Amino acid sequence: MAKSFTIIPIASAATQASVFAQEPDTAWHKAGRGNLPFLADIMQRPLRDLRISVTDRCNLRCTYCMPREVFDKDHPFLPRAELLNFEEIERLARLFIQLGVQKIRLTGGEPLLRRGIERLIEALAKLNTREGKPVEIALTTNAVLLSQKAQPLKDAGLARITASLDGLSEETFRRMSDSNVPVKTVLDGIAAAQRVGLAPVKVNMVVKRGVNDHEIIPMAEHFRNSGVVLRFIEFMDVGCSNGWRMDDVVPAREVLEQINSRFPIRQVDPNYSGEVAARWHYADGSGEVGVIASVTQAFCHECTRARLSTDGKLYTCLFANSGADLRGPLRAGATDQMLSNLVTGAWRLRYDRYSQLRHAATEQPGKKIEMSYIGG
Ligand code: SF4
Repeated sequence: MAKSFTIIPIASAATQASVFAQEPDTAWHKAGRGNLPFLADIMQRPLRDLRISVTDRCNLRCTYCMPREVFDKDHPFLPRAELLNFEEIERLARLFIQLGVQKIRLTGGEPLLRRGIERLIEALAKLNTREGKPVEIALTTNAVLLSQKAQPLKDAGLARITASLDGLSEETFRRMSDSNVPVKTVLDGIAAAQRVGLAPVKVNMVVKRGVNDHEIIPMAEHFRNSGVVLRFIEFMDVGCSNGWRMDDVVPAREVLEQINSRFPIRQVDPNYSGEVAARWHYADGSGEVGVIASVTQAFCHECTRARLSTDGKLYTCLFANSGADLRGPLRAGATDQMLSNLVTGAWRLRYDRYSQLRHAATEQPGKKIEMSYIGG
């Protein structure tokens, strides 16, 4: 009989409860990593990661992110002048790093659609953390353009890549991505990323019950022994367009049980504190899989991510319904200190824990920002 899986939480429920119970503390904390003070939000979470959305456009129409009914040819995508330009992104990234950011992830939309993205990566890859180490630059992509872009991205200084792929059969992929892009195009892109050393390549599969959950085992089988780390993500209620229902969610526990019954696995420690994926190794040494249980095992208590939208708003949660405008002050001539103060002020007041509250919600939350604009 398949064993029942519990994902070992990073912090116990009791710890989380006591964290939530604390009074707001808006001070810089003295005992940060490397003995540097760190900026903490109300729940004592430091600012460590920055996700930058470089475009709100995409060449796929995944049903859970940019459903075609909403994002059709009449959809008002942002005009070019409203996008942060590369110099503006670099300047803001530099300020976030001074406030403690260690890792930057470029997202979208589809970030490879942003012309000259390599130039931005080259500039960001030169930045150092407060501890003097290079900032890690990663990118999330649907991999459609990755075959031709992998080498220039690597040359520009990109460290790692995460690709999205929600099924191996043409039919499933077409259904999830609402496009006619062949699966082979994505697989070729993933192979190209591996070939040029954007390692380890991670592949994210969003699992939606009744739509692509029959592909869990084929995906695991395909990526075993490949060096690619496959991660299964619970279908989430991001934005306001994807018609999310709890019934559509395949809990991570169920995914793990399926995999274990075919390929035995054992849980391993996170690579670092706050890692969103729980990690599992195949018992026969054929690789790693992960689950991102953002619905059934929320990890808000360890969430250290800020998001910078395509048009320069700072969001402190994927499910936020408003953000702090940085582009306006930046273009109006704000000094670095003024911009830093805006970021600091927003982070110090941060109390976001949407996923942990999801089940407790008694009423519909307000309008949320679409993922393609804020970055996943
Ligand atoms: S719901 Fe918000 S606070 Fe919780 S993990 Fe996701 S982005 Fe972070």
